[in-house]
Amino acid sequence: MYFENQTFLVAGLSRSGIAAAEYLRGRGAEVFVFDDVEDKTVEESSRRLMALGCIPVKKDELFEKAEMCDILVLSPGIPVDHALPVSFRRAGKRIIGESELGVLALKCPVVAVTGTNGKTTTVTMLESVLRAAGKNAIACGNVGKPITSCVKELGEEGIAVAEISSFQLETLTSLRPHVSVVLNISEDHLNRHYNMENYIFLKSRLVKNSTESEYCVLNYDDPVVRSFKDKTKAVVEWFSLKEKVEGAYLENNWLCYNGERVMSRDELPLDGEHNTANALAALAAAKIMGIGNASIIAAFKSFRGIRHRLEKIGSVNGVNFIDDSKATNVDSAIKAIQSVKGETVLLVGGKDKGYSYEPLFEAIKKSGVVHTVLYGENAFRILDAAVKSGFTAVTLCRPFDLAVRVAYLTAKRGQSVLLSPASASFDAFKNYEERGDKFREIYKILLKERENADDLAGATREDTDE
Ligand code: ADP
Repeated sequence: MYFENQTFLVAGLSRSGIAAAEYLRGRGAEVFVFDDVEDKTVEESSRRLMALGCIPVKKDELFEKAEMCDILVLSPGIPVDHALPVSFRRAGKRIIGESELGVLALKCPVVAVTGTNGKTTTVTMLESVLRAAGKNAIACGNVGKPITSCVKELGEEGIAVAEISSFQLETLTSLRPHVSVVLNISEDHLNRHYNMENYIFLKSRLVKNSTESEYCVLNYDDPVVRSFKDKTKAVVEWFSLKEKVEGAYLENNWLCYNGERVMSRDELPLDGEHNTANALAALAAAKIMGIGNASIIAAFKSFRGIRHRLEKIGSVNGVNFIDDSKATNVDSAIKAIQSVKGETVLLVGGKDKGYSYEPLFEAIKKSGVVHTVLYGENAFRILDAAVKSGFTAVTLCRPFDLAVRVAYLTAKRGQSVLLSPASASFDAFKNYEERGDKFREIYKILLKERENADDLAGATREDTDE
């Protein structure tokens, strides 16, 4: 891409916007920067970017300044039907995302992973496999490290393992990864993408530019993802938990690849069938990248999972606490309740994303969930789904901290309190990490209270003994 003599407007100064502005300034482009939030963090970022020569834009001068710009770099947080990108499209000017800028700049192969759930897990697993094989691999993109910030570090010899979300796919037009991986598709983000057709269309963008010299790893067990074979010219390899496919599959509890046993499932230290599926996807991608079994096995065996994804925190008075705060849609919460062994009190709720919660309660009825505690902005919508599904072991308790306490008091010894919200966190938290951290904080308070109560009981007994 030609940067000199081009004027860019970077809209949205989160991590990726900042990285894009820095990258563009580094290549001599003229860069305007804008964010409609006016808080301390944005002010600080604007100041830093100004020191690099970027020009901050105020709200009331946005459209005037936008007219002076040739290309809009749009943050994934801003939808493509927002007035700003609409004005660029009307003027026939280009809109690009930070991830596309990054991929265009990269000189090394890219493995790109999308899907409704499991992206971060798969990308992180694949990064560790590639690193175990001595490759300079970096997990980047939606996983939290902007692609533009990795260009130098990756050089020509590295491998970019890029997590790509549907928000990023809205602006991706020329992406052609060496290997693209599509994990699964279920209802999510319908408040942004309007309907499933559009959401599926966006996900298919990852594979649509690929040619016969590229590869595509698709989930054979997911009919929508399976149909993507017809949308790509790439060489397709599958992964499946059920069928002996061309690619990676599970057979007699072994992770296999094209007729070869690679590793026993029992050696993978992650719970849940969904994580086996993620491992199979990573296995297929690693094999395509030429990685040998020894590195795959070593990395898989030592993979300890990621924070806020079915993370076992500890127990209070025999009640286990599990933080799955990243389960921000129904399918991921269903996978959680199917993965947790034994009886469970489930905490569900948060910000609504426009889908039905009834499939969750249908799955709950067949699971070890003995009670649900509903909290947050969408508590009544979830309650409605519970009632329609005939699941009546429900307590509605809107404030999160109280709901966690109620879940703990409801659970019996040996049972688990599982936070798997099936909803976004933005009704009460900055993000899912903050929600998970709050859950952990309440766990710690409950633990302390329990220890204090035990001490007191001990002291009382001693008093009585005297
Ligand atoms: P993403 O990056 O796509 O959001 P993560 O790996 O961060 O995916 O996991 C998000 C949530 O989805 C977690 O609750 C996790 O347990 C669950 N999950 C992980 N992999 C899968 C999968 N293959 N199918 C369904 N849910 C999954």
